[in-house]
Amino acid sequence: MPLFRRGDHGTGSPARAAPSEPLPPPSSVPPVAPPPQGVSGQVPALPPAAAGMAPPPVTSFASASVVPSSSPPIARFPATEGDLACRARGCLNHNGVLCHYVDRRGRRCDTAWCPNHWATVGGIVYCRRHAGTIAAIGYFDHPSGMPDVDNRAPSLVNWVARDLDAFVAATLVQSATQGETFVREPVVSTHADRSGGRRYERGWKLVDHTGLRLVVAVFVSDDEETTIRVRVGSGVIAEGVPPWIERHRRGIEVTEETDRSQRGLFYAFFQKHIVAAVRANRAIDQSLQQR
Ligand SMILES: [Zn+2]
Ligand SMILES: [Zn+2]
Repeated sequence: MPLFRRGDHGTGSPARAAPSEPLPPPSSVPPVAPPPQGVSGQVPALPPAAAGMAPPPVTSFASASVVPSSSPPIARFPATEGDLACRARGCLNHNGVLCHYVDRRGRRCDTAWCPNHWATVGGIVYCRRHAGTIAAIGYFDHPSGMPDVDNRAPSLVNWVARDLDAFVAATLVQSATQGETFVREPVVSTHADRSGGRRYERGWKLVDHTGLRLVVAVFVSDDEETTIRVRVGSGVIAEGVPPWIERHRRGIEVTEETDRSQRGLFYAFFQKHIVAAVRANRAIDQSLQQR
């Protein structure tokens, strides 16, 4: 069923009008709504039926010829506004809707948010936390299901990977040898651990025609979801709990400056060990090739 309808102006059949009127250039037909993408805290949501796809084109090639290019797009009242109290602190709005997140066990997030405080991904309403989860693992079907509703690991991995990205990319690119290409994983992926748990991981790779040459990856395991681990090649080379999580756990408040400095130390720690491990790996590679 089309979501949007337009052009019912009774101006005659498209077949008759088409030869005499020039087609408007494609750019003159204004889009009805921006394609849903990214995470936004403010954009009104489309109903879940529109999830993950751009709104269908409003007019077919033939009918476009009978719609005057000046006809304004039809404004639609967002259908997903609800009647629940918003969960945001200090917010008195009662037009909240439930976060649409459902995890692999079928459990739902039970928080409700008003349009000022919800986030949307692909036109679907989520709380900001689960919008972060969706942004981390990508917006598509996951065969093993969505991470548990209370699992912060995917968005933590994504966050740390983003902060380390420029550094790791530069380190790998500089260490690449002839024929190797740098590849960045765009989202956090889910892996089954030998212990039966899961881990969430995002990585950077050097590949060549033979396949994977070297990987650097940030990951968090299900059973220790506040510990960031970094592996280079097949081995874990560094791990630690981010200072902002540790402080939250202990209920410690710090100034912005202290926060910045602690984050800096945290990332510098990982950077130092990543560089050392990449160098060690490359040295082993070279000595193997020279044999
Ligand atoms: Zn609110
Ligand atoms: Zn949620």
